Amino acid sequence: MTANEYIKVRFGRHMDQCTNEEIYIGLLEYVKDQAKNKEIAGGKKKLYYISAEFLIGKLLSNNLINLGLYDEVKAELEACGKSLAEIEEIEVEPSLGNGGLGRLAACFLDSIATLGLNGDGVGLAYHMGLFKQVFKDNLQTEEPNPWMSDHSWMTKTERTYRVDFGGFNVTSRMYDIDVTGYDSVTTKLHLFDVDTVDESIITDGINFDKSEFTKNLTLFLYPDDSDDNGRLLRVYQQYFMVSNAAQLILDEAVEKGSNLHDLADYAVIQINDTHPSMVIPELIRLLQIRGLTMDEAIDVVSKCCAYTNHTILAEALEKWPIHFMMKAVPQLMPIIRELHNRIHIKYNNPEVDIIKDGLVHMAHMDIHYGISINGVAALHTEILKDTELNAFYKLYPEKFNNKTNGITFRRWLLYSNPELSKLIEELIGPGFKKDATELKKLEQYMNDDAVVQRFLDVKNTRKTVLKNYLAKTQGINIDDNSVYDIQIKRLHEYKRQQMNALYVINKYFEIKEGKKPARPITVIFGAKAAPAYVIAKDIIHLILCLSEIIDNDPEVSPYLKVVMVENYNVTLAEKLIPACDIHEQISLASKEASGTSNMKFMLNGAVAIGTMDGANVEMHEFVGDDNIFIFGEDSDTVIKRYADGSYCSRDYYEKDANLKKCVDFIVSDKLMEVGKKENLERLYNELLNKDWFMTFPDFKDYCETKEKAYSAYENRTEWGRKMIKNIANAGFFSSDRTIAQYNQDIWHL
Ligand SMILES: *Cc1c(COP(=O)(O)O)cnc(C)c1O
Repeated sequence: MTANEYIKVRFGRHMDQCTNEEIYIGLLEYVKDQAKNKEIAGGKKKLYYISAEFLIGKLLSNNLINLGLYDEVKAELEACGKSLAEIEEIEVEPSLGNGGLGRLAACFLDSIATLGLNGDGVGLAYHMGLFKQVFKDNLQTEEPNPWMSDHSWMTKTERTYRVDFGGFNVTSRMYDIDVTGYDSVTTKLHLFDVDTVDESIITDGINFDKSEFTKNLTLFLYPDDSDDNGRLLRVYQQYFMVSNAAQLILDEAVEKGSNLHDLADYAVIQINDTHPSMVIPELIRLLQIRGLTMDEAIDVVSKCCAYTNHTILAEALEKWPIHFMMKAVPQLMPIIRELHNRIHIKYNNPEVDIIKDGLVHMAHMDIHYGISINGVAALHTEILKDTELNAFYKLYPEKFNNKTNGITFRRWLLYSNPELSKLIEELIGPGFKKDATELKKLEQYMNDDAVVQRFLDVKNTRKTVLKNYLAKTQGINIDDNSVYDIQIKRLHEYKRQQMNALYVINKYFEIKEGKKPARPITVIFGAKAAPAYVIAKDIIHLILCLSEIIDNDPEVSPYLKVVMVENYNVTLAEKLIPACDIHEQISLASKEASGTSNMKFMLNGAVAIGTMDGANVEMHEFVGDDNIFIFGEDSDTVIKRYADGSYCSRDYYEKDANLKKCVDFIVSDKLMEVGKKENLERLYNELLNKDWFMTFPDFKDYCETKEKAYSAYENRTEWGRKMIKNIANAGFFSSDRTIAQYNQDIWHL
């Protein structure tokens, strides 16, 4: 049945008689129906990818592409005067993730299904998800982000579980989203919810009563953790997630004939960052209830669980106070104590203890009682082994391994950039869609100027698409003849948006002094700051103030524009990335575990300005010095400087007059006219007295490197070659490669 026929049956009318809403609903149901006809991944052993986040993005087009229906449906729509793009606008992006970690989980699900592996995602169905970012008076404000509707990709299942907390229990329900593999089988994303969630407890903005657990359990992703109540709620959420996951895992294994002693033949669990770590003691607890001894249960679970570390920032290695655990999940504490005691006796080394100073170290539990621990880029894994987790590496060298992150090319090339995808297919055939390494064949065209020009043309097309999109959706006007310089990622000091902002100030001064760039520059930011992360919000404030000042300055505005898009999410990323000329990957070396936006940009023919950090290091290896702009101090230098505590930002400020001038601008009268004194002074003082992520030492090199990049951009043909070199070498960063490696080394499905 075609989409048209389906809609006719559903609404009794031909597509051209339906509203866009009706067509959307019709297509959604049509796609769900078509997915049902697909084979479901099977096999004795199943992977459970447990994650607090799945930043899946809109699903209509993605599913149409993966089911092979995209061209057909697009044509059907066009035949009745509709465009798929306008139908897609009806879909609300699911708000189930926050940043790279959640987007990675979504890319992984796509690749698992595409490779035909038997693996499901398990997470939570947050009603409001992450907040929606709204700018007011040049400041970020937060609003709830409701995204669920009656017509949704989620399908209610009959599966419900009881989850016990200290003093009360709740009944969960499982909802499923089909994960359609590209020309392959389907798998599932299981999202658990409670019926008692009550959206009416939200007061102003995203505030709500944090102690009403039955009403707030699945309301928001990462509720504000600046106070104890918010932190405690996270423990409740995490336990709710893993208790459901553990019950599902055991039930499915038993259904397939497991006697539970052989659970490892039926299940492997990937713990995505430390949020799902309690699945280890929970499985041990449930196995004991089902008749295993403690020794047996620990032994069984230790063969099933693998942990992925996503960051070396101490704040992210979760440690929960024992009194939180005693309140929320008292039934787990005896098990965690037992796990701790065994380690404590065996190794007698406080560094690797699970319980220390009244805190439970979740990552430590994962490492001791799991089969694998992996970092997410080569450099990151080396840093884990050499420094952060060195004590563990000495105990278990065989457990440590690297799995450099990847992205799904279905979403980030085929869907987001059909013009580029078409050009590539014309040049090297369709093989790259299933085997990303075939992109390498594009290198043969690097010296064919006519072909190079076609890559430049595609980029120009996409720049105009972005220009029109921003004008329509955000009321922002940009010049598509300017160079698009883009930094989009969560707002965090280690990612150093503040350094990019200082560069903007530097450029503003240069233009004021008569040194005009060869071509106008559009600097685009997109970033949400965690609601309680004060300095991050101050950096957003600075960027928005700079944007206003420059827009209103007739001397500067013809040459420089600063844009901060509101509510950066997957949908925006899909528009920004294909249009980008230069992308900013400027984290402090050693701090960005991998990055994945760097890979999306590379695949779309943008050239990076970056530090030797995360996966940038591997990208650099692939494309060589001429096709990426590397600057800044390396991770060894940075790590040493942290270790000896020698960094003093004020020294750099005093010594470098240009830097001083840029930093001082933050608290100048000009800024105060459009900004808030309190915020700007706080940011200024933070930089001058702390600058914990060492912006100042790299600033000069950063400015010089940006000039080099802008000047290289003016040699259009040479730039086109750089674009092709990047695209041709992006194949390694396909999540299909990453997932194949997880399976080969860890999951063995
Ligand atoms: C890819 C992606 C990220 C991760 O970006 P990084 O620059 O790697 O931190 C975050 N948010 C969205 C919406 C993404 O698509």
